[in-house]
Amino acid sequence: MELTVLGYWGAYPWNDEGTSSYLLTSGDFSLLIDAGSGTFNQLRKHIDPLTLDAVILSHYHHDHIADLGVLQFYRQLNQQVDQPLLPIYGHTEHEFYYSSLTMPNVSEGHAYAEGDTTEIGPFSITYLRTKHPVPCFAMRITEKETGKSLVYTADSGWMDAFDEFVKDTDLLIADSYFLSGTENHPVHFSVKEVAEMTVRGNIPTVILSHLQQRIDLEELLRQAKAITQEQAQALLAKTGLTLTI
Ligand SMILES: [Zn+2]
Ligand SMILES: [Zn+2]
Repeated sequence: MELTVLGYWGAYPWNDEGTSSYLLTSGDFSLLIDAGSGTFNQLRKHIDPLTLDAVILSHYHHDHIADLGVLQFYRQLNQQVDQPLLPIYGHTEHEFYYSSLTMPNVSEGHAYAEGDTTEIGPFSITYLRTKHPVPCFAMRITEKETGKSLVYTADSGWMDAFDEFVKDTDLLIADSYFLSGTENHPVHFSVKEVAEMTVRGNIPTVILSHLQQRIDLEELLRQAKAITQEQAQALLAKTGLTLTI
């Protein structure tokens, strides 16, 4: 499977680049993970959004869903004959947002909850409720055919439960909003927590994502590498970054 970063900033887009969104493909199946601000145009550089097979959302903060409505409008206005409804997976703990996943003739909301295993095309997905001001779920996505997996932390402060959830995954995409020194924050990880989790989890590659506009990102990367050293490859998220897993 192949993972492409479409947007990686936390909170708001910046310098022509968008907030959280990732495209995951396996064979000809494509899954959009979150739909952050400014990422619809990036999605179009990789696939025709009419051919997108499914969307999954970690939570309903604006920086993760801002381009979902315009994706629905695009599918509505460019509809092909016999075009299937776009399944959009989300949690049901915010009625207003969950109901907006369904748009007649365009898309259909599908519920997930912690403890579920969701089968979406070639992928099998499990969840971990994160530490965040609103209900939010990290996801572990396994490609059934190969057994390869990735974990997307979504937005979270540190919780011990992450150690078990990320163990031995092939790729970690982690909220790395803070430099070292801001551990145990109630909303986001520090890069120290991310790098240490990567090493303990025996994970070969970590993408530092959900980045903050007001910090030195080279210093963030340096702090991660000081911990991961030779045990893992640490990468700063970047628009268009593609990894094969
Ligand atoms: Zn966020
Ligand atoms: Zn959030």
